[in-house]
Amino acid sequence: MDRTLVTGGAGFLGSHLCDFLLRTGTEVLCVDNCFSGSKDNIRHLAARSDFEFIRHDVIHPLFAEVDKVYHLACPASPIHYQHNPIKTVKTNVMGTINMLGLAKRTGARILLASTSEVYGDPEVHPQTEDYWGHVNPIGLRSCYDEGKRVAETLAMDYHRQNRVAVRIARIFNTYGPRMAVKDGRVVSNFIVQALRGEPLTVYGDGSQTRSFCYVSDLIEGLHGLMESGDLTGPVNLGNPSEFTILELAESILKQTKSRSPIVHKPLPQDDPVQRCPDITLAGSRLGWRPRVGLEEGLERTIAYFKEKLNA
Ligand code: NAD
Ligand code: UDP
Repeated sequence: MDRTLVTGGAGFLGSHLCDFLLRTGTEVLCVDNCFSGSKDNIRHLAARSDFEFIRHDVIHPLFAEVDKVYHLACPASPIHYQHNPIKTVKTNVMGTINMLGLAKRTGARILLASTSEVYGDPEVHPQTEDYWGHVNPIGLRSCYDEGKRVAETLAMDYHRQNRVAVRIARIFNTYGPRMAVKDGRVVSNFIVQALRGEPLTVYGDGSQTRSFCYVSDLIEGLHGLMESGDLTGPVNLGNPSEFTILELAESILKQTKSRSPIVHKPLPQDDPVQRCPDITLAGSRLGWRPRVGLEEGLERTIAYFKEKLNA
């Protein structure tokens, strides 16, 4: 039986990944410090003999014998990663060194959850993997953007210098059930606001764009990349259907049948103007493409939050 370590396994994506791996007959070791994730996300797995949870911070070394590592530990929402930016850098640098060191020692294959944020406020659209990005190194988002860029550098250096089998996934905005009510990212914010009858907070004029991927598609992409024969990457994973933030707000109001007004708040510093993945590489090398459209994905996510907020 394969034994797989999932760091950040109690988070939004990590918990869905744990579910997916267990369904494929893989034994899962889930490591998380529960900063932005929660044991609630993995409570349903606690009694299983093929699942183990360790509360651990990846900035400290970890010794475990595993065949594969999915390294997801890092807060992903701007409000969370900006809460303690020095800690975010430590998580990305020291945490990634520790996990690459573990992979080197055990011979495990390791997948790094990188991000579209490595492209910064992109001047190339849609973004292809060979674009080096347009990133502010000293801004409020830098702890995350530059942290992930160093994490990618480390992964490639461990790959070249120590022959560690590395996979780099550049994940674009992903949403779905198990996002925390107070996560702070746009999809969960708007749904929670719409369901509570509160104003939807559109930052700036709402003309900035994002491309939203439903969680089940993303997890299949991560797994496909991990299992691919020899594709180190980086590989973009995301849904290439692009929407303005105002369009997203209007879709959520319509689908929740909410009468909440839209209010405009100041645009955060360095907020990317446009973002859309070119997923040609994932399509040709992994045979992967997202299957869940925005309307269907929002429907499932709205149903989750309805239950959560009524509980
Ligand atoms: P999340 O915040 O829900 O999950 C991150 C998890 O990592 C949390 O459970 C958190 O407690 C844990 N964590 C944070 N710092 C840690 C540390 N030092 N030690 C141990 N655990 C730690 O966010 P998510 O959306 O599930 O993101 C997971 C990964 O995917 C992150 O690396 C993120 O950068 C990447 N990613 C996500 C998206 C997205 O849209 N969801 C987009 C791009 C990249
Ligand atoms: N956003 C917004 N209202 C919110 C939260 C976010 O208008 O309540 C905007 C944000 O300014 C950005 C986009 O939605 O342009 C996506 O933000 P998110 O924090 O989800 O992720 P990002 O892609 O910026 O990391």
